Amino acid sequence: ARAEVRQLPVYNAGLSENAVRAKYGIPRITKLGSNENPYGPSPVALDHWTGIASSLFRYPDASAEDLREELSRQTGIDTDRIVIGNGSEQIIRMICEAFLSPGDRLVTVLPSFGLHLIWPQMMGARAEAIPMTADARFDLPRLHQAVTSGPLKILMFSNPSNPVGCLMTSDAMQNLIEACPADTLIVIDEAYWEYARSSPDYADSLTILKNQSRPWMVLRTFSKAYGLAGLRVGYALTSDPGLTAVMTRVRDPFNSNSAALEMARLSLLDQEHMHKTVDATLAEGKALKAALEERGYFVARSFANFLFFNSRESASALTERLLEQGVIVKPWKEKGYETWIRVSIARPEDSQAFLAALDRVRQPSH
Ligand code: PMP
Repeated sequence: ARAEVRQLPVYNAGLSENAVRAKYGIPRITKLGSNENPYGPSPVALDHWTGIASSLFRYPDASAEDLREELSRQTGIDTDRIVIGNGSEQIIRMICEAFLSPGDRLVTVLPSFGLHLIWPQMMGARAEAIPMTADARFDLPRLHQAVTSGPLKILMFSNPSNPVGCLMTSDAMQNLIEACPADTLIVIDEAYWEYARSSPDYADSLTILKNQSRPWMVLRTFSKAYGLAGLRVGYALTSDPGLTAVMTRVRDPFNSNSAALEMARLSLLDQEHMHKTVDATLAEGKALKAALEERGYFVARSFANFLFFNSRESASALTERLLEQGVIVKPWKEKGYETWIRVSIARPEDSQAFLAALDRVRQPSH
């Protein structure tokens, strides 16, 4: 393999329910490691499932026109500025393949979504990850310093941040973007946008970016609020058709399957279901945060469907003991965050199962 690939860290995709069931012999698993939406996809979309399945002998529409048209209607971004991916993780990969040469510099944050570091490294780029502040927020002065020190190919981070959940304010985002060199590609990964958008603190990235004469992309997904993680569909909104054309060159022609494209489109038409599940998740998030704080943990303020908290013991060891109880959460391993755990916000009964397991296995001094 190439030297970059030999050194590449393996992405921690987490454990499936079946894997945990088989290993620990526990029938009932509480899966809170991947920020899925347990309320599931739109029932209106599900009503069409059999009809969709009967057309599976056809190749999908390689241009994903119907889905891009509906996205265009809802975002106000023309269809020639929309790229569909097999999950937004594939879009991150396409961006890196299309724009990063060996030695190019990319700035992101730490902790971050794993692929924001792994795909740039695969291309031989130098990824610089700026740590969050001690109280789990974006470190704006250090980010500012990083984007102004030399050539910068890409600035990429998720907002709300995964795994922290924090949100960059409008002013901060605008200042940071304007501090970047004029040719830097700005990539804002908004996988959790639907959970944050109604907050007064949400930085409307499209409004900020539309006024910039620089290349940008905003990434979104159907895996979270739309409850379609298993189908794999995400998208990018881009600053101009030229960027879309570049992405199309590196895209697998049939990268998104026909069932995913149609279920995503139908789900977009059922905004009511999506909003209902987002509201239920945000309400449950408040209760879960309070329950963790009652137990003495510091929990980062979250604008997404997960909480990031400092367990004050080895996150890996605690996660392993939770697994033995049938509860899946995600421990952080990066330097400085070895005691932090990310837990998805799901249904009240999921929180109860998690908290009960936590109380059984956490170190008594905590
Ligand atoms: N970006 C962020 C910030 C994420 O948290 C995730 C999923 N965990 C993704 C992208 C990828 O999502 P998907 O490929 O399912 O669209």
